[in-house]
Amino acid sequence: MKRVAVLGATGSIGRQALEIIDASPVLEACALASGSNELGELAAARSVPHTQVGGDLTTLLDESSPDVVLNAVVGFAGLPATLWALERGVTLALANKESLVAAGGLALAARERGGGLLLPVDSEHSAAFQCLEGRALETVHSLVLTASGGPFRGQTHDQLEGVTRADALAHPTWQMGPKITVDSATLANKGLELIEAHFLFGLPYEQIEVVVHPTSVVHAIVRFRDGASLAHLGYPDMRVPISYALTYPERAGTPVEGLDFAEGLTLEFEPPDLETFPLLALARRAGESGGTYPCAYNAANEVAVAAFLAGRLPFLDIAGVVSETLEAVDGAPAGDLEELVHADSEARRRAESAAGALVP
Ligand code: NAD
Ligand code: MG
Repeated sequence: MKRVAVLGATGSIGRQALEIIDASPVLEACALASGSNELGELAAARSVPHTQVGGDLTTLLDESSPDVVLNAVVGFAGLPATLWALERGVTLALANKESLVAAGGLALAARERGGGLLLPVDSEHSAAFQCLEGRALETVHSLVLTASGGPFRGQTHDQLEGVTRADALAHPTWQMGPKITVDSATLANKGLELIEAHFLFGLPYEQIEVVVHPTSVVHAIVRFRDGASLAHLGYPDMRVPISYALTYPERAGTPVEGLDFAEGLTLEFEPPDLETFPLLALARRAGESGGTYPCAYNAANEVAVAAFLAGRLPFLDIAGVVSETLEAVDGAPAGDLEELVHADSEARRRAESAAGALVP
């Protein structure tokens, strides 16, 4: 049995992970955690011995000593659990991209010391991981991450004036929690994923490209130096990458159907509109600048998205808040967790004040 700690158990990824675990003869939930939602029924139905609502998740991890940590917490709050697993060499199935974006350098150093597996749950990164596995990095020409383009693909900046919370939460291809759904509408999600890919695969930013692919069937493509490309395809269903990470390297069966070519399958790709969706270009610049710029990008985006969801900030000003924050911070590298947490707090403070100034 593999004993899995499911962090963020009440969320979109957490619930799908529990479905995978319940159906598997070799997986068992040993701990469940959420931020503020009660775990009563979820825990009772499975007699999970360790549960926690809110607080420091590392206490729960210490008590439950899992074989795998599935980190499906949303936001920077997932960082302690990411570092806990990497430092100890406990397999980390990582959905919480924000922790790797904010603390990439510290996380990689912890993985180096811990020597364990870091398995991406994000669909594009799971796909890229599978295309890259067993291949030398010098044979890779570039990695292509696909983006659905979100609900506002094809619209102009002016058309996005007055976009509501409900408009932004209507994602065309994926059912997800509210924060990542807004990130998909602004393309900040793809920005975070660009930085996530840089840290996961050790590729420089100029070797990572983003392309819009509206149906989300191709999850990632790796171009190799000989002109060949490998792609990973499947209907958009997070149970596939969740199951892959939890059962790695077994690739257990899932209830998800394979592609049906008889129905006809057209694959379309187009370049992202960086003018209408500036958060993608801002992420690339933050990533290339290094230091704590990615941390500040993530912090400012979390603040701005929360303000948008609370009705305090217009949709189009999310990018403005992030851009002003990146201008204001010094981006100095963080030598340790304390310095990183300080950079995160500083960026949040700047972002709050930028958001306050932008309120109409
Ligand atoms: P969600 O909002 O549905 O769920 C978030 C979960 O995190 C909830 O269980 C919540 O209680 C918990 N949580 C929040 N703050 C917490 C805290 N301080 N301590 C402990 N738990 C806390 O979000 P989601 O869509 O499941 O996404 C989770 C993560 O997975 C995000 O980082 C997201 O970017 C990533 N991800 C999600 C999808 C998807 O399809 N939903 C795809 C790829 C990556
Ligand atoms: Mg993704």
